[in-house]
Amino acid sequence: MRPTYAVTELMGDGIGAELSRAVHTLADALPVQLDFSSVDLSLENRRAKGQAIYDEAVRSVVAHKVALKYPTVTAEESPNAILRRRLDLAVIHRPVYTIPGVTSHFHALLDIDIIRIATGGTYDDQGRAIGADSAVSLRIVERKPVLEAARYAFELGKKTGRRVTSASKYTVQRATDGLFEAVVREVAKTQADVSHNVELFDALLGKLVMVPEMFQIIITLNEYGDFLSDLACGLVGSLGIGASANLAFDSASNVRVAMFDAAHGTAPDIQGKNLANPTAIFLALAMLLIEVGEVPLGLALKATVLDLLRDGTRTRDLGGTESTDSFTAAVAAEITRRAPAIAAGSFASTG
Ligand code: NAD
Repeated sequence: MRPTYAVTELMGDGIGAELSRAVHTLADALPVQLDFSSVDLSLENRRAKGQAIYDEAVRSVVAHKVALKYPTVTAEESPNAILRRRLDLAVIHRPVYTIPGVTSHFHALLDIDIIRIATGGTYDDQGRAIGADSAVSLRIVERKPVLEAARYAFELGKKTGRRVTSASKYTVQRATDGLFEAVVREVAKTQADVSHNVELFDALLGKLVMVPEMFQIIITLNEYGDFLSDLACGLVGSLGIGASANLAFDSASNVRVAMFDAAHGTAPDIQGKNLANPTAIFLALAMLLIEVGEVPLGLALKATVLDLLRDGTRTRDLGGTESTDSFTAAVAAEITRRAPAIAAGSFASTG
């Protein structure tokens, strides 16, 4: 009997359906059983059902604790913003690393975990005009999500032996960013074996480009994390192949729900053409497997995808000739070939 995990699948728009087919093909090749419950968050269904479809999505994600989300069109509303609020998601964890075989203008190696506070900063208030020539908006920093994110970052540091860097503009934004750094310091004191340093966010960006090996885990506020994620993805050569974990926590700091997604959007220009690159959603699935406790399998899936990319099995967006289907078949075949070694614990992950 294969171990079984229930997973909510949040269907979206554009290439989402093709990516879902790819995920199911790959899931069939895994030595675990993933029981998918699907909720349709396509624009058409959101318009037809309104809030009820979000209620259904939240119920399903909370019941199953883990979800895989496909890209959705932002139209009247942003489904991502709604899900973040409704699921109380505190942290967006985006690993960004050099992928051998993916070309970039940046020649150093990068390997960082960005831990972004999922809410607040300048993103919860769209601001308002004061007269014709000025406008104002609020910047919000709340203790709870910062505390949860800091605990998560330091736990990750403890598990992986990596250093945590907190980055903000605490010298200028004394109240907001000062609170952020104070909360991170509180957590750092409880994790004395994890190394911690503080950087001003602008200095961090410069150093990241000049001496990337200085950085391992970076915790930062919402908008800074947004900017940093795109910069880091650009440095490693693709905005399109990153994946994220979106996490909510219980009062004991355990992960309460985890939603995994690809960083890219719905790619309407290639929809239905069998050209979509499923790498990001496969890497999201690998993170999901690690979250449910299938750590060797998740690491092996990640390594399998990266090995294939390195060896030239790539879709067109990465300069290759593979289609969605043929790339998926290659990943499924390779994970099947490696399954006995993964089960025996003798598979050495390179990812
Ligand atoms: P996009 O990421 O959809 O597309 C940008 C370019 O990258 C396009 O040329 C596209 O073909 C290509 N691309 C993206 N993903 C790809 C993949 N997996 N394989 C191959 N090529 C890929 O960004 P956009 O065009 O700015 O946005 C389109 C829609 O997606 C918008 O409605 C936006 O709101 C939405 N969006 C959703 C999410 C999300 O749900 N997480 C994220 C970003 C954008």
